[in-house]
Amino acid sequence: MRLAPTRKNIRFYQRRMRQARMVARALQSKHHPVLAHIIPMRRCNLSCAYCNEYDKVSAPVSTQEMLRRIDLLARLGTQIITISGGEPLLHPDLDEILRAIRSHDIIATIITNGYLLTPERIERLNKAGLEHLQISIDNVNPDDVSKKSLKVLDKKLEWLKEHGDFDININSVLGGGIAHPEDALTITRRALDLGFETTVGVIHDHGGQLQPLRGEERRVYDQILSERRPGLFAFAYDNLFHKNLTMGQPNEWQCGAGSRYLYICEDGLVHYCSQQRGYPAIPLEKYTVEDIDREYSTKKPCAPFCTVSCVHRVAMLDMIRNDPRDSLFRLFPPLTPGGPPSYPPIVRALSSIFLPEPNGKPPGLARRLTTGMAMRAFGLKRTDKSPLRDNL
Ligand code: SF4
Ligand code: SF4
Repeated sequence: MRLAPTRKNIRFYQRRMRQARMVARALQSKHHPVLAHIIPMRRCNLSCAYCNEYDKVSAPVSTQEMLRRIDLLARLGTQIITISGGEPLLHPDLDEILRAIRSHDIIATIITNGYLLTPERIERLNKAGLEHLQISIDNVNPDDVSKKSLKVLDKKLEWLKEHGDFDININSVLGGGIAHPEDALTITRRALDLGFETTVGVIHDHGGQLQPLRGEERRVYDQILSERRPGLFAFAYDNLFHKNLTMGQPNEWQCGAGSRYLYICEDGLVHYCSQQRGYPAIPLEKYTVEDIDREYSTKKPCAPFCTVSCVHRVAMLDMIRNDPRDSLFRLFPPLTPGGPPSYPPIVRALSSIFLPEPNGKPPGLARRLTTGMAMRAFGLKRTDKSPLRDNL
């Protein structure tokens, strides 16, 4: 598919280039966070019954303090900063915070309930440099558990389609005894109609632990997977983590929370994740590369049944670092038995440039030149011909 060189399409290509560079840099070194979630205010305008991440009273973190925390995350080499909450659109200076993230050449994303979006607000997010927005929609009609409903938010989705100049992901949820599991399919289909990315999450309990899918939930989940356009991380995630989680089976993996993923609460403390607050709870200004390196290999007892998908996705990059060919094959298995691996285009391009030759032979001249040019384009240090061979 060729896209005409409109402003929107140019920004689309720029985002893909920045994402490819993020992946390449994450593969090159394990000594920096790939993703940090930062909380600019704990207050939320909704009260979802299952949520343990909001209150109704707290004030926004001051803008000056938020900018200081962004600087500290940049100094640690963070590649993506996601602003969540509570509800981040309630923060009066969200645009300034987004601009600060982009000024450090960090990918800027938010997770919102979408209630406060208007065409004018979306245009301001464009101008601030937002690159990705996620809305989680829980049901078709509001109920006592959640008001994050397609019926309420559909107009906002149309405005996002018309005005949004950033990637948009609509997450639906299954599990946890949700009243109408078929709603997840309706939400996914609507999001696909609008051209958005989609993911589906398995609801975790208040400790971040698993609730397996049963009966109708299972059928709806399989139907969603068969209709969905596979996105890069969602597709790999489904093949590895989701496959076990939806059956109530544990995953064997190394959780990189506190290392490759940081959760910065409103008090400026670094925690493992939203579900494991209190560990290690070190002030961000005191967090160092030594902390990052220690937590890289710290075993987390909650890992086998963890459903915190953003930390899983970051861990997939480290699986590829550690064992590129085998991990890629597991993440993107053949669609037909005995067929080739189902690599998305970006993975095919990066692996053809950076992966060592399968037969262990040194790469030829053409391959060395291509890799060298790609390293320069991604701003990678030329300490080796491949980011996959450094710092392993
Ligand atoms: S909108 Fe999000 S932060 Fe607010 S209560 Fe619901 S799940 Fe929690
Ligand atoms: S395994 Fe990691 S991401 Fe999951 S709940 Fe535990 S600390 Fe959080």
